[in-house]
Amino acid sequence: MKYVSTRGRADELGFADVLLAGLATDGGLYVPQSWPTLAPSRGRTYVDRAVEVMLPFVEPDIDEITLTHLCTEAYETFRHDAVVPLVQTSQGEWVQELFHGPTLAFKDVALQLVGRMFDHVLEQRNQRVTIVGATSGDTGSAAIDGVAGCDNVDIVILYPLGRTSDVQRRQMTTVDAPNAHAVAVEGTFDDCQDLVKAMFNDVDFRTRNNLSAVNSINWARVMAQTVYYVVAAETFARPATFSVPTGNFGNVLAGWIAREMGAPINDFVLASNSNDILTRFVNDADMTARPVVPSLSPSMDIQVSSNFERLLFEMNDRDGGMTDEQLTRFRTSGRLDIEADQRERYITGSFRAAAFDDDATLAEIGRVYAATGMLLDPHTATGTAASKLFSGPDGNDGPLITLGTAHPAKFPDAVEQATGIRPALPAHLADLFERDERTQTVANDLGAVQRLVESLTR
Ligand SMILES: *Cc1c(COP(=O)(O)O)cnc(C)c1O
Repeated sequence: MKYVSTRGRADELGFADVLLAGLATDGGLYVPQSWPTLAPSRGRTYVDRAVEVMLPFVEPDIDEITLTHLCTEAYETFRHDAVVPLVQTSQGEWVQELFHGPTLAFKDVALQLVGRMFDHVLEQRNQRVTIVGATSGDTGSAAIDGVAGCDNVDIVILYPLGRTSDVQRRQMTTVDAPNAHAVAVEGTFDDCQDLVKAMFNDVDFRTRNNLSAVNSINWARVMAQTVYYVVAAETFARPATFSVPTGNFGNVLAGWIAREMGAPINDFVLASNSNDILTRFVNDADMTARPVVPSLSPSMDIQVSSNFERLLFEMNDRDGGMTDEQLTRFRTSGRLDIEADQRERYITGSFRAAAFDDDATLAEIGRVYAATGMLLDPHTATGTAASKLFSGPDGNDGPLITLGTAHPAKFPDAVEQATGIRPALPAHLADLFERDERTQTVANDLGAVQRLVESLTR
């Protein structure tokens, strides 16, 4: 498979180069030259299906035997035999639990595999990289866990001092691997992101340290996420609707791709918190960036959904120049305008959307607990609330599947507030608060951070 950039001016690359590059040189995101058709399902397990779904995307750079090996290792880290089990929550509604991985959020599904793919490709090329990233919580721990122990990767994750939850911080600072480093910055999440951007913009520093990224625009992450849509949809006799708690559009884009490949999927429900740019876009044709407001579902506190660019490229019939123009205008005006016929073809009939503020989210956690005894985290709860909204008699024929994006114990305060019950950490993390933390604090200063990164890189 060859990959092209959504801005149309970067070289076509194979999978391994796309994996390591992240962003294209023209500022665009890589997408496959064409969408492959799903191979028939022959195997029995999640790993079997994962290999069948992903093989066309990674060949010839990664062969079937290697992919099988990487997937087996990645999904062995999940604490459920089904990897991503479906749990029924009402007549016609299910939650797909994507949070049985090491760090209790759905990002493990992609990052456990992507970390291993990085190590494999680098080993073959006899190269090393240093991954730097910024996190407000979930991504950092999933990325650190995904590459912990990789021989050819060092990782340095910047987090804002005192602004992550204790669980989130400890998941980053207690990983016992010589190549993994969590660094507290005396600043905000935005400061952390700015520092990472500045390190990438310093070409000298970037080249000297072979900097790389595993942020949510990395194609391999989206690819790995298509698998659970295929697996869930194929469980049912009628085409499914997925309700997706989303911020960056990455997760829902993976579902859209699964449908393009032929998975039996009807449509998608986008669930937002108060940061509702995607909901406004779907319901009111209004994609205007507004300031981010903090919520109980912090991993969806995003106002610019970077992965939307990949769908926009499709909406523009894969015209990179047009996509570039639209996004450049969006950056200056803060408003993205889509033609009515593009909306008609790509949005209407494919996407529905709803937003829920913190009060509605807490009420939903309480409602589901009363109805089923299940504890939901606040991200997943926006999804089940949206599912409920569209589950009426005229709303849906097929199954409604909400993606369960985090384990309730990752956000215990909100769950306790809603239900009176403080969810316990699963067994593999039960001693999280007894483990030794390894972290350093650094000033919000580019020079200081760069010196630290260089001293940590092996
Ligand atoms: C990252 C994250 C999301 C949002 O995922 P997108 O890829 O931005 O759509 C939702 N829930 C949880 C728990 C997350 O960690």
